[in-house]
Amino acid sequence: MKWETVIGLETHVELATQNKLFCTCSAAFGAAPNQNCCALCLGVPGVRPVLNEKAVELAVRGALALGCRVETVSAFDRKHYSSPDLPRGYQITQFYRPLARDGTVRFAPEDGRECVVRIAQLHLEDDAGRQFHDRESGCTRIDFNRSGVPLIEIVTQPDFSTGDEVVAYLEQLKSILTYLGVSDCKLQEGSLRCDVNLSVRPVGSTQLGTRTEMKNLGSFRAIRKAVAFERGRQIRLLESGAQVVQETRRWDEDAEQSLPMRTKEDARDYRYCPEPDLPELVLDEAWVERLRREQPELAAQKQVRYAAQMGLSPYEAETLTQTRELAEYFEQTVACGAPPKQAAAWIMGQVLRQLSQRGLTAGQITLPPVGLARIIAMVEQGRVNRNTAVEVFDAVFEGGDPEQYVADHALEQVSDADAVCAAVEQVLQQHPQAVRELREGKEKAFGFLMGQAMRALG
Ligand SMILES: [Zn+2]
Repeated sequence: MKWETVIGLETHVELATQNKLFCTCSAAFGAAPNQNCCALCLGVPGVRPVLNEKAVELAVRGALALGCRVETVSAFDRKHYSSPDLPRGYQITQFYRPLARDGTVRFAPEDGRECVVRIAQLHLEDDAGRQFHDRESGCTRIDFNRSGVPLIEIVTQPDFSTGDEVVAYLEQLKSILTYLGVSDCKLQEGSLRCDVNLSVRPVGSTQLGTRTEMKNLGSFRAIRKAVAFERGRQIRLLESGAQVVQETRRWDEDAEQSLPMRTKEDARDYRYCPEPDLPELVLDEAWVERLRREQPELAAQKQVRYAAQMGLSPYEAETLTQTRELAEYFEQTVACGAPPKQAAAWIMGQVLRQLSQRGLTAGQITLPPVGLARIIAMVEQGRVNRNTAVEVFDAVFEGGDPEQYVADHALEQVSDADAVCAAVEQVLQQHPQAVRELREGKEKAFGFLMGQAMRALG
C-alpha cells in the first residue's frame, strides 16, 4: 500500500520584548539562573498578572504579517498541568478566544514548488521555566528566568506532507518574524520551538489517521530526521496490523528516534477555564490598522523589487535578503550611488567573506555603506584596479576611510594619458639597448621596460 504523511505544526516563538508577559522582570536570555524572577514568576499565590502592551503589539504585528484576522476582543485562559517548572500549576494562554485566526503563509521548499499553509490560529501565552537534568548528581535543577517570557503559539492546519516542507515553512516564518522584529527566532536559544503532529493514511484517503505529537525538536536537521523516522514507524505499525497510539513522543537527538513520553492529553485533561485575574483583551481597531500600515517590506517583497527594479538574479535577491540587516546594507550602498549589480557582487563576495571569517552577523558590519560605495566608485572610475580595491576593502573593513587609505599608500592608478606617455618616452630614451632587443623580438626586454615605466610613475 502507498502511504501519505499528514503534518500539522505548533510553533512557539518568544517575543522580543524587554519584559515578561505579566510582570516587569527582564525577559533577556542568558542571565545567571533565577536572576530575573519575582513572586509572579515563581507562582506565589495572590500575585496578580498585568499584561505587557509591547507583547500584544508584537503579537499583532506577527499576526498581520501572517495574513491572520486579528480579533478585536480576545481573552486569556488557564491551562492546568503539573510540572516542576510551572509552580503556579497552570499556564496562562488563549484557548477559547485567541488573538488571531485564519492566516496563510507562502513558502517554497527546495524543489522549487510554491506551497501555501493555512494558519488556524495565533495566540499569546507565557512560557514555563526550564529544567536541567544533571546525570552525574541525579539532580534536576530549575531556572525560572524563562518563566513568564511572552510567546506566540502559531498553529497550522495539517497541510504539510514532508519534512522539507516543514523546514521551508519554518524558514519563511523565521524570515517574516525577524524582519518584523517580533522575535530573534534563535533555535539554539529556544526562542523558536516546534511540535510536529504527524499521521499517515493510505494515498487517496480523505480521513485522517491517528496522530502523534513530537516534542523537543531543537534544529531543522532534527525536524527532517524526526519526520522521516515517525512516518516509517507508523507505516510499519499499520502494515503489521497494529494501531498507532495517540500520544506525545520525545525526539532523542542522539539515538535519532522518537520515544513515547505520555499518552496524549485532550483538552479536558487541561481543565481550561477563563483567567479571572485578567480582563478581556480589547484592541482599538485604529491601532491595529496603524500597525498594518507600518508593516515593513518583507524578504519576499524585496526579492521581487530587486529583480524588477535593479535587475538582480533570483539567487542574488535571495542571498541579499537572507536577513533584514544585510538587505538594508545593500539598499544603503545603492543609495550612496553604487550600481546595484556591483553592490550585490561586492556584498555577496567580499562582505560575506569578511563576516564569515570574523564570525560576525550582518548587523555587525563596521564599514559604513558609504565606504563600500566609495570603493566601488574608485573601481568604476579606473582609479584603482580590482585587486587593489579588495586590498583597500580588507584594510578599512574594521574602520578607516578608503580614500585616505588609497592616498596614504599611493595606490591610485595614473590614468592621465599625457603623464603616462611622457614617462614612457623617457624610459625608451634612457634604455636604447632594451629597445633594440625588443625590436629584435626579445620579449624579455618588454617586461624590463614596463617595470622601468611603472617605477617612474610610482
Ligand atoms: Zn516576574
